[in-house]
Amino acid sequence: MNDDKKERLQVIIRNLNDIVGWVNGKAEAKEVSSVEVAGVSTDTRTIQKGNLYVPLVGENFNGHDFVEVAISNGASGTLWQKNQPNPPTDVPLIYVEDTLLALQSLAKNYLASLSTKVIGITGSNGKTTTKDMVTSVLATTYKVQKTEGNYNNHIGLPLTILRLEEDTEIAVLEMGMSGRGEIELLSTIATPDAAIITNIGESHLQDLGSREAISEAKFEITAGLQENGTLVIHGDEPLLTEKVTNSLFTIKTFGSSRSNDYYPVQIEQKSNGTYFTMNEEIETNFFIPVLGKHNINNALSAIAIAVQFDVPIPSIKKGLEMIKLTGMRTELLQGKDGVAVINDAYNASPTSMRAAIELLQDLKNYKKKIVVLGDMLELGDNEETFHYEVGKGININEIDYVITFGQLGRKIAEGAKENFSGNNVFAYDDKQELIAKLVDVVAAGDIVLVKGSRGMKLEEVVHALI
Ligand code: ATP
Ligand code: MG
Repeated sequence: MNDDKKERLQVIIRNLNDIVGWVNGKAEAKEVSSVEVAGVSTDTRTIQKGNLYVPLVGENFNGHDFVEVAISNGASGTLWQKNQPNPPTDVPLIYVEDTLLALQSLAKNYLASLSTKVIGITGSNGKTTTKDMVTSVLATTYKVQKTEGNYNNHIGLPLTILRLEEDTEIAVLEMGMSGRGEIELLSTIATPDAAIITNIGESHLQDLGSREAISEAKFEITAGLQENGTLVIHGDEPLLTEKVTNSLFTIKTFGSSRSNDYYPVQIEQKSNGTYFTMNEEIETNFFIPVLGKHNINNALSAIAIAVQFDVPIPSIKKGLEMIKLTGMRTELLQGKDGVAVINDAYNASPTSMRAAIELLQDLKNYKKKIVVLGDMLELGDNEETFHYEVGKGININEIDYVITFGQLGRKIAEGAKENFSGNNVFAYDDKQELIAKLVDVVAAGDIVLVKGSRGMKLEEVVHALI
């Protein structure tokens, strides 16, 4: 097989004529019947030879303005939204009512034409991590493809599906949201055979109003879940467990509580990762090369899925040991001058911040432990209370310094001062001043946790230490 052919096998390959039906479109038969499409693209900058171009109408750009560019860059044909003026005349083209809906419909129909099984993953925190873990354990036994990066929304998920190779046995798809109805849409497109809800946190509290509303939004993943499908949920979360009594799906729960189907028995946190045993396979000592108890939950949900797909325990163990995570999530780095750094600057919510602080508290063999915590954004009306409570929850017996960044970060500092003396709690609004203080405080043998919302750019603090 030549390289060109190999490249083109990695995606949907169809005659344009077949696609007309899948997108509910219209085209002149003579125009499209001989055109073959290999892959789909919505972006003329990355378009590849043979791709079907799907012009989307966005806030800033209208893809229809770039159809000629798409064709000259190699697209073999294009969709065209009927209400857009001046369609090109000499290009293989399918007219549709709405190009976004057409993209989603194309993905749904392509997937339905494959025998690929689908696992959908949603939840407030840990979706990407869990996706990587599930993929790693299933890939020991099956041909698996997963969502790349954060392609987890109403555009990214269809594009991910359209990149499935025809012989892929299992697709592991992340489903993200920013409001009601979005997960339902994604689930109906992907019609998963199994689904995971990692947890219910506080992200999107601002838009949705309550944790109950958040749990309902995540539960929309059952909308497209196949009959007799498996639903794996965080069993320590009452908002989830109360929804599955009398469910028609096969329910599996994971979490710390012993009432779960999968719970950890012994946990040993090492600096290079975490060892744990679990109730179902008590003699197996699992290892994950990542830190934090929350990652044991993510691993347990991956185990639940793998067991459901008949992956043998030794393979699951091997798959977990080999996980490769998408960058910047709870990384332990060796910094300059013998200082260790936990970089968790990728994002933050109260749940994930508490999890990261707990991780630092659990680690042994460090001289001083320092937390650098920034604002957690988009928490809605009670944001100050959330920050205050996180600060108040920091254990003075385990943590030596609390350093905060930002306006809301100040509330963390105020909460921490309930237990700590003023001499080891510092609040900053200027990152350079913060870094100066931090560099002053740390010494060889210490460990520093850095965490805050993406918008706080706390990786700049991490860079100062490594
Ligand atoms: P996004 O909404 O940005 O796509 P995500 O749900 O994909 O996020 P990850 O990227 O896997 O989540 O993890 C982000 C952070 O959430 C991690 O760095 C960690 O601090 C925290 N986290 C991961 N898993 C859990 C969990 N099961 N419970 C609580 N916090 C978690
Ligand atoms: Mg993610």
